[in-house]
Amino acid sequence: MHIMLHPSGSCTTRCGYCFGPNTGPIMDDATFSAALDWMESLVQPMQSLEVTLHGGEPLLAGITWHRHALARMRARFGPRLRLAVQSNLWLLDDAFCDLFTEFDVTVGTSLDGPESINNAQRGTGYYAKTMRGIEAARRHDIDIGIICTFTPLSAARWRDVFDFFLRERLSFSVHGAIPTMGLCAPQPFALTADAYAKLVVEMFDYYLQHIRHIRVSTFDQFARGLTGSCAVCTFGPCLGHYLSISSDGSIYPCNRFVPHRAWQLGTVSDRPSVQDLSHSLSWQRLQDREKQIEQDCGDCAYITRCNGGCAYHALAVGTGLRDGYCQAYQRIFAYVMDKALAQIFSQENLAAVVNEGVSDRRGLLRNGELLQVMRGGPHPSSITAAAQEFDLGTGPPQGDHETRTRSVATVRMAPAAKSPAWRAKASPMSAIRALAGTSGSRTMPQCASPARKTSAPKSESMVIKTRSSRLAHSNRA
Ligand code: SF4
Ligand code: SF4
Repeated sequence: MHIMLHPSGSCTTRCGYCFGPNTGPIMDDATFSAALDWMESLVQPMQSLEVTLHGGEPLLAGITWHRHALARMRARFGPRLRLAVQSNLWLLDDAFCDLFTEFDVTVGTSLDGPESINNAQRGTGYYAKTMRGIEAARRHDIDIGIICTFTPLSAARWRDVFDFFLRERLSFSVHGAIPTMGLCAPQPFALTADAYAKLVVEMFDYYLQHIRHIRVSTFDQFARGLTGSCAVCTFGPCLGHYLSISSDGSIYPCNRFVPHRAWQLGTVSDRPSVQDLSHSLSWQRLQDREKQIEQDCGDCAYITRCNGGCAYHALAVGTGLRDGYCQAYQRIFAYVMDKALAQIFSQENLAAVVNEGVSDRRGLLRNGELLQVMRGGPHPSSITAAAQEFDLGTGPPQGDHETRTRSVATVRMAPAAKSPAWRAKASPMSAIRALAGTSGSRTMPQCASPARKTSAPKSESMVIKTRSSRLAHSNRA
């Protein structure tokens, strides 16, 4: 269960393609208490919960609000709660950094590349203020996940954008700017399906050239989608998994629906159960869509990968059924499949399969960086980072797979020594996930922080599925 909680409905910025209302109150104490009680009522005693502080701009609620809210949430849920904040970072200072470190809050922001491109899309002055926040986070050893939104302007200059993030050593996710639902005015920022497919396919090759030094979570998820372990909300049954609480306590199906009252599911002060929410008109409409998608997309080769895509995007482009990027997804999955097959049939990989035997838990995915991502192993960029921390040079660490994995694990586990006491009580699964370089999170809506956008693979015994299974699809939900 992933909840998006809005400390503030207002935002300091006015990004041209934002789907949010940019207005609204700071969440008051009574509403937060009701939200806390409601979240607790949603999850079983041992069940994990992920809460992303979002908005609006969450930091507008102030440090006192956050200190109070984080302490109460941590006290209520303990280590089974995963916390994240998605902010433009303009207000991120040392005090916020200390607070987020103390409560183990993952930090994400939005930045569209170098200054000229970013400010053309997000407004004058945005870049400098967000980079200042990134610098503050770096001083405190906080990793930042970046959402990078591509419009026709930045898609035409994708290499500049990629090189910027590579230079800055910032991992990012690729979001196409999609239309805002219900807006009649022209939306020049929106990226068409054709342009999105071209962008991803061209950038994917470039990514593979640089995958040892940067992580682009969107591409990793497309690759994992082929093995059935994609964790992006777009490609899974999202209804009921990514609920959003606006700053006035209203509940929505996800962040993208927040300003649209017609899509409201309920109010936290009523403490509705999931069953109560499912009786709302909004829920019924989204559920009907999920059923219709099974028919509408039934002959698509990628239906078990895509599941019809994002409901919001489908509504925003007017069809209400298939995601507006349907054609793009088909092209991208086919492209990534070709790349994966090329690595599977490479001499190195086939030799590893022959030498180690097909019963190895890694199946056919042995030797190749894309294959490593697909099976959920440590990301190649993490291995490089580990090598650099061990002063092994700038290239990838030497040694066999297990040696490299141990190097990464050692580096990843090191910060645990500084962890607060509650964290020491975290389940062994957290440690296993850290060793595997994965978070285990089922991941989040498109609009959320990408910082923990990976999930543990369902299995390392991989078979690439080339055709859809209606049976498998009907098992969703
Ligand atoms: S962004 Fe789309 S796919 Fe993700 S939770 Fe919202 S409606 Fe579902
Ligand atoms: S790619 Fe298109 S047709 Fe295939 S499942 Fe996704 S939305 Fe449906």
